[in-house]
Amino acid sequence: MKRETIAIHGGYQVDPTTKAVAVPIYQTASYAFDSADHAAALFNLEADGFRYTRIQNPTTAVLERRVAALEGGLEALCVSSGQAAVNFAVQNVVELGCNLISVPQLYGTTHTLFAHVLPAQGVTVRFAASDHAEAIAKLIDDKTRAIFCESVGNPAGNICDLEALSKVAHDHGIPLIVDNTVATPVLLRPIEHGADIVVNSLTKFLGGHGTTMGGAIVDGGNFDWKAHASRFPAFSQPDPSYHGLVYTEHYGKAAYIARCRSVYQRTMGAVLSPLSSFLLLQGIETVALRVERHVENGRRVAEFLRTNPNVEWVRYAGFPESPYHALAQKYLDGQACSLMSVGIRGGYEGAMRFHDALNLVTRLVNLGDAKSLVCHPSSTTHRQMSPEEQRNAGVFPEMIRLSIGIEHIEDILDDLDQALRAAQPATPSTR
Ligand SMILES: *Cc1c(COP(=O)(O)O)cnc(C)c1O
Repeated sequence: MKRETIAIHGGYQVDPTTKAVAVPIYQTASYAFDSADHAAALFNLEADGFRYTRIQNPTTAVLERRVAALEGGLEALCVSSGQAAVNFAVQNVVELGCNLISVPQLYGTTHTLFAHVLPAQGVTVRFAASDHAEAIAKLIDDKTRAIFCESVGNPAGNICDLEALSKVAHDHGIPLIVDNTVATPVLLRPIEHGADIVVNSLTKFLGGHGTTMGGAIVDGGNFDWKAHASRFPAFSQPDPSYHGLVYTEHYGKAAYIARCRSVYQRTMGAVLSPLSSFLLLQGIETVALRVERHVENGRRVAEFLRTNPNVEWVRYAGFPESPYHALAQKYLDGQACSLMSVGIRGGYEGAMRFHDALNLVTRLVNLGDAKSLVCHPSSTTHRQMSPEEQRNAGVFPEMIRLSIGIEHIEDILDDLDQALRAAQPATPSTR
């Protein structure tokens, strides 16, 4: 099936007992056992079935199958937020004393996880000087366990050359983990370009309405954990936390998600509520349609801003002069994302006046909502970084990040125009 169809039908068939057409909300913590033998068989992984919602739930299982299918992956684990997905995706491949290599352009909280939290647990994250494959290859050693990038960086808007990055990763026997939140599987399927693990914040475009938090980890099923057992012994050696289970033996190609679920989800418990899974499934039904409109509105806004005298620069991969234009053609089929950053004339002060003068476009820290959204990363999402770290992450004091929604384009442009004029009172309207 094509992505538009998967978004509506993927992972669910009409419920055989009730004939419910919508995905039922299984709002239950646990599931009854027929007998002690049945319970033992479930816990021994000899029988299929549900035990406890922290580990698996039928409503969430539909969401997992749907997101896995959208990404063209083998299996998925859905968790309570995108950040939990990023955390579990990397926890599943690291151990004390090892390192990860990351591109410098990251979502602010992921940067904090990598720069401060993982190091305190004995895992070093080496930030490459740029998102280029050569900059990353230089940092790899025998303690490296993965390369991490965002397919389209938030908020920098850089586009990673996934084929080049996955080649570097695979040449060194390590997986490429890609955060695909900004691009969404509608525009880009990283697994088709060599990524091994893909994470998504479902809170953003996939859910699409800014109501419900969630995250997904998808495994492409292509990385051979057994062949690289010296780096990743946890997958092919008996797991003492699960009475000696060997993931690659029991689950074959699906070992990664199985271990993520039985070790990290089970013990750290970032569980997605069944009601949230239902709401996210509702959102996903229309994601392809919405993304089409997001992309078109984004293009119109970028063109408007480019010629506005109150705007110093617009970072938008759809422009031929963008350093990411060729990669946008290759990976996004020319459909640049509706997330863009703009430098407002007047530096930090000008950016703040513009930000505060908006009426329709909402001031907040989120993206991918049906509504148009604005934020000032330097003072919010990336506030914890030093000025130098901010610059490396593509964040500047005069920079405003826009996530263009699906309202009527004329209303969006009118609001941007009046706010730009309010920020620089002497300038006439350009509309
Ligand atoms: C928002 C976001 C996250 C975190 O997702 P939450 O659902 O807010 O926890 C991770 N990565 C990127 C690129 C994001 O934009």
